[in-house]
Amino acid sequence: MRRVNTLRSTLERTSPGLQIRPNFDLTKKTSMRMYTRAAVYAKVENPLGLRDLMHESGERGIPAFLLGGGFNTIFAQSYFEGIVYSLEGSFKDLEYIGNNIVRAGSGVKLPQLLSYVRKQGLMGLEFLTMVPGTVGGALAGNAGAGNWGLCDLVERVSLMTRDGYIANVCRNQFRYSYRHSDLRDATILEADLRLWPLNRGESDRRIEEYKSKKTNQPYNTPSSGCIFKNPKDPATGLPVSAGKLIDQCGLKGYRIRSAAVSKGHANFIVNHGDSCGEDFLALISLIRDIVYSNTGIELEMEAQIVGGPLNSVVLT
Ligand SMILES: Cc1cc2nc3c(=O)[nH]c(=O)nc-3n(C[C@H](O)[C@H](O)[C@H](O)COP(=O)(O)OP(=O)(O)OC[C@H]3O[C@@H](n4cnc5c(N)ncnc54)[C@H](O)[C@@H]3O)c2cc1C
Repeated sequence: MRRVNTLRSTLERTSPGLQIRPNFDLTKKTSMRMYTRAAVYAKVENPLGLRDLMHESGERGIPAFLLGGGFNTIFAQSYFEGIVYSLEGSFKDLEYIGNNIVRAGSGVKLPQLLSYVRKQGLMGLEFLTMVPGTVGGALAGNAGAGNWGLCDLVERVSLMTRDGYIANVCRNQFRYSYRHSDLRDATILEADLRLWPLNRGESDRRIEEYKSKKTNQPYNTPSSGCIFKNPKDPATGLPVSAGKLIDQCGLKGYRIRSAAVSKGHANFIVNHGDSCGEDFLALISLIRDIVYSNTGIELEMEAQIVGGPLNSVVLT
């Protein structure tokens, strides 16, 4: 705790690119709305502030976690003894740079990006209809729908490595696949996305199609989107819906205190009240065990769990 306090006062003194808040309540910063506090919360305004934060936390060995929109992140414990930071200020810039390319800061919200792209007379992002989050979070997890993920549209991404260096990579210089990208090993600063000229009728048709596939998702109850990735059927090698597997095991509606498997879409866990990390982790373990014993298929996490035994996040 003393180390964290020293770090906080150093950053407050030395870095104008950072807004620091001690002992910060993060409950409203994630869509799961589970109670968590961070020893320090930092709003990072520009790349210099980010470099200061990386440098100081790295030197002191203090865990730092980057939070985008918080729509795919769950804090498993009620206290995070480190820094949680988010990218604000210049990381929210959005610009059309010509040649069908839009430059988006990693802190830009996806719905804002989608409407900006249409206003510029472009299309290509319809698969992100009703997908909440930020550009950085969506690139880190290659968010999308059907066969499309945001990484498919990358022309160039600018990153900051853990030692504070800025690098630019093109799409063929990093690996990505279904709900995964190597970009998450660094901090994504901004991306150039290649789109194509708008065909309004076609774009509207796709948007409606994506919307119609989401009617069973619990948009009005706190959740973190899909908890598990869709696995491959070991017999056929083809993807199977994790939600269907969970449903077939009779788990829809199953709850541990306020954490429940959604009755609409079984791959969503919803928070009906004041569920805590322990309830949530217990429910995840139970789902995994039952699906494995009934089908022989191991479910892999899609949501990011910070802290706790299922920790799926590598902290900087
Ligand atoms: C109702 C609902 C529906 C959803 N539907 C879909 C869907 O259809 N398809 C889909 O793919 N997802 C869906 N999701 C999940 C979520 O929208 C996506 O995963 C989204 O990309 C999360 O973005 P975020 O900014 O909120 O990420 P966060 O949850 O804040 O972060 C996720 C991970 O990305 C990392 N990260 C964030 N920003 C950066 C950055 N700048 N650089 C490096 N790493 C970073 C974080 O450290 C964390 O590890 C849904 C979620 C909800 C709640």
